[in-house]
Amino acid sequence: MFESVSEREKSIILKYPILFGFPPFDESETLMGYGLGVNEVWLPTLEDLFDKLSVVVNEDILVNFRIIQVKTKFGILCIYTEGGNFETADLIHEAMLTTSKTCEICGKQNFPKSRGMTGVMVCDECFKTTKDKRNENTLH
Ligand SMILES: [Zn+2]
Repeated sequence: MFESVSEREKSIILKYPILFGFPPFDESETLMGYGLGVNEVWLPTLEDLFDKLSVVVNEDILVNFRIIQVKTKFGILCIYTEGGNFETADLIHEAMLTTSKTCEICGKQNFPKSRGMTGVMVCDECFKTTKDKRNENTLH
């Protein structure tokens, strides 16, 4: 299971045993064996979040804290945890807001807008580029 996760995601998960525990991840306790399941452009925001969470977990001695699932649901970052407090919840909420303003194509934090039925969040520039490409394709 964990073997099929990308190297980049694996190295992020393994960097924070205080948040995720250690592999092999028992599926009855955590879904981290499936990786982070988010767009690559969100990974820097997630690493930033995991750094901040590690500090809180250490300082507030949250010995039972675990991130048990990270995923994208309808274009929104979802992080499920156990044993957290208000501060961990706040940090996760903050990361959710940041990712919702991050372009899913170029990663720019440029107040992107949701486009179309799929709820894809892209900045104006990327929207224009992909739109131009679509028009080109219809012309030829
Ligand atoms: Zn963009």
